[in-house]
Amino acid sequence: MRYFVTGGAGYVGAHACKALAGAGHEVVVFDNLSTGHREAVKWGDLVVGDLLDRECIKRAIEDTRPDGVLHFAALAYVGESVHRPDLYYRTNIAGTQNLLDAMRLADVTRIVVSSTCATYGTPAEMPISETTPQVPVNPYGRTKLVMETMLRDYCSAFGFGAIALRYFNAAGADTAGEIGEDHTPETHLIPLVLQAAAGLLPNVKIFGNDYPTADGTAVRDYVHVTDLADAHVKALDICASGHFKAFNLGAGIGTSVMDICMAAERVTGQKIYIEMVPCRAGDPPILYADPALAATELGWTPRQSDLDTILATAWAWMQSAHPGAGKGRRTDHADSQAEHMN
Ligand code: UDP
Repeated sequence: MRYFVTGGAGYVGAHACKALAGAGHEVVVFDNLSTGHREAVKWGDLVVGDLLDRECIKRAIEDTRPDGVLHFAALAYVGESVHRPDLYYRTNIAGTQNLLDAMRLADVTRIVVSSTCATYGTPAEMPISETTPQVPVNPYGRTKLVMETMLRDYCSAFGFGAIALRYFNAAGADTAGEIGEDHTPETHLIPLVLQAAAGLLPNVKIFGNDYPTADGTAVRDYVHVTDLADAHVKALDICASGHFKAFNLGAGIGTSVMDICMAAERVTGQKIYIEMVPCRAGDPPILYADPALAATELGWTPRQSDLDTILATAWAWMQSAHPGAGKGRRTDHADSQAEHMN
């Protein structure tokens, strides 16, 4: 099969391209390279283009004649979405609609899209299942919910077969070290913790230590990017014309910010200095998935999402991107957590 991958130069998209190629598929990446990286496109051709350019996406779909589409291209920073909702509605909604309309014109109806646990907002109960009410609390989550709604309507009206994969916290890097996470600016916890381990940052700022959790820090569900990539390949196989389905993709395990810092000290052998700072606006205290539906209907279970594999692969990627990272630093971390919890 030939698949068209928007945002295939980005973090999750590039890992999905590798998984598609590994399953014997042909890949064409469509990316404007605003946040993605040309060097991450290793498993197919790259068309540099923007989803907001209707002619460009129409031509790219017509020329590719794909059997289906994986749609990753989007803006995905919660904080930025609060200050620039205009950009988020334009890219995530208008951009998606341009893609769907280009697909319609070319009779391409199979699509798997990146969605997010941010569409659930701050649910009252854990774990989060697909039937948990979707009440997003920021513009990013709202744009992804509108995207899902639009897809449902395209499925019933135009016979699209669509699957939305609601990611929890994507983390880790390709186990062979070919690709990994590379955002500018970096805002995600695990790369920042590892930058602190590598001595590239003086410390990690922990956003809030008075949440109602066991150690007071926020709890999330970290899922390995390679596991996410595999889910996309499986989802393409079960897209059924006229049907929309959504699946939660998480490990089903809640891990606190402090758990991440301690595990990172163990995995890297480096001392990590931490600083407690106030909570980040809009951050819910606890989010973790019930991934049972993905197991039964998609045949997907995470294989690499244990914390050690996530951290070891991300650390190997960081060391390859910054040779010498962490070398020559102190490794006497035994007392550091107690020291910094005070
Ligand atoms: N976090 C933190 N310090 C940082 C970055 C993140 O304490 O420098 C926390 C954040 O408040 C959240 C968790 O780590 O509870 C995961 O944040 P991230 O930005 O990686 O992903 P998000 O859950 O926002 O999608």
